[in-house]
Amino acid sequence: MDLILRGGRVVDPESGLDAVRDVGVSDGRVAEIGNSLAPGAPEVDVGGLVVTAGFIDLHSHVNTVAGLWLQAADGVTTALELEAGVTPVAAAYRMAAAEGRPVNYGFAASWAMARMEAVAGIAPEANLSAFLANMASPGWQRPAAPGQITVMLDRLSADLADGALGIGLLLGYAPASSPDEYLQVCALAAEAGTPTFTHARDLIEMVPTAPIDGAEEIVRAAGQTGAHMHYCHVNSTSQRHVDRVLALVGRAQAAGSRVTTEAYPYGSGMTGIGAAFLAPERLGERGLSPSSLIYAPTGERVASVDRLRELRAADPGGLAIIELLREDDPGDRELLMRSLTFPGSIVASDAMPLTWMGPRDPASAAAAAPPAWPLPRTAITHPRTAGTFSRALRLLTRDGGPFTLAEALTKCSLRPARVLGDRVPALRRKGRLQVGCDADIVVFDPGTITDRASYDDSTRPSAGIRHVLVNGTFVIRDGDVVTDARPGRPVRADPC
Ligand SMILES: [Zn+2]
Repeated sequence: MDLILRGGRVVDPESGLDAVRDVGVSDGRVAEIGNSLAPGAPEVDVGGLVVTAGFIDLHSHVNTVAGLWLQAADGVTTALELEAGVTPVAAAYRMAAAEGRPVNYGFAASWAMARMEAVAGIAPEANLSAFLANMASPGWQRPAAPGQITVMLDRLSADLADGALGIGLLLGYAPASSPDEYLQVCALAAEAGTPTFTHARDLIEMVPTAPIDGAEEIVRAAGQTGAHMHYCHVNSTSQRHVDRVLALVGRAQAAGSRVTTEAYPYGSGMTGIGAAFLAPERLGERGLSPSSLIYAPTGERVASVDRLRELRAADPGGLAIIELLREDDPGDRELLMRSLTFPGSIVASDAMPLTWMGPRDPASAAAAAPPAWPLPRTAITHPRTAGTFSRALRLLTRDGGPFTLAEALTKCSLRPARVLGDRVPALRRKGRLQVGCDADIVVFDPGTITDRASYDDSTRPSAGIRHVLVNGTFVIRDGDVVTDARPGRPVRADPC
């Protein structure tokens, strides 16, 4: 035995275990769970704390060690880039392995990057920054010719053969792409037995001229192709229409379609300021104005349409906070809770890469410096990067929250593991705290767990999370990051 976590409240949502137990860890796996395990290994007293499976984030765009520390400090032990995805996926796995990761990592194939290549000749670079830099260019958003769709599908097939975890579809970023193209991509996924992860097209309430309602489209693809459709951040793309969208999803699920949903408990979104739906003439569709946007690199609230045009032209991939729902409004807070408490809904962060304020020169000191903890105040992000899971647990289980701890934890670990478990054997050993499972473990205080990151202090780590182990190695110990730990391993599908 390498380690004994002594006397914690062990919660495993799959088996229903919720009792005081010792947990023995050996060779990166959970070796024993029981009462009074014999001594003989280093011990950590976790009395009074919850011991459970680490959180699996299906929606993380974080691509640096420093950003992943923030996620680990929020209980995340596996951070997967599935909505945007990356292409070519093999290069993304290579780069992550070469740099080392504190948490487990994995990638879906990227429809958007494959589309950029097929329609606009933009070579994919296997990272999100390259996508963000090109996202505003109209070239890649054009309707595709049949031959171009074939090229796209070939690229996605090659990524799936290389172990991609599914296909990510940033559909809302190319709203002129045809619904038929979407169905063809979903049919490819169905054939490969792999899930799709969609940022929905515009809802019909927002854009009455859309070729199809964004929510109907996802549900229809599940019914017509048989693909497992995962509906990303249903909170932010549905805004105040979330009841209509969730009812639609519920009907599809009842009819036997495989549609899953995820949500993050924040009223604001964040994306590249050059996104199609942030064009000045389109802001009204979502009830927004330029001042609903805060441009992260300078922290400025966008003052006018002219300033918005200027920023979109100069730095289309520059990240901006977008105020969608008001977190200080009880009605809007209730809408956010409905996305989170919807039966089966998964907690997923949409964690964003860090933006470094100050000089943009990539050779600048900040960009070149090795990651340091705590992060300097010049590193900023959306608070969801640092706080999604602890905020969700607080809202769901503390102060009269509607769920038991086990129910809430199911949304953070077991359900996300099940989304991928069909085709990815490694996920069947994650998201559970059982003998033989990977020792991806979070230890936290259920009475004090909470987010602390805010829009003004976005990289403040969560509170109440005491220890986090990834494959049996501490990445958070006594509430602090173990800065030299890189135990993260690739999560990859079997080649098909
Ligand atoms: Zn998205």
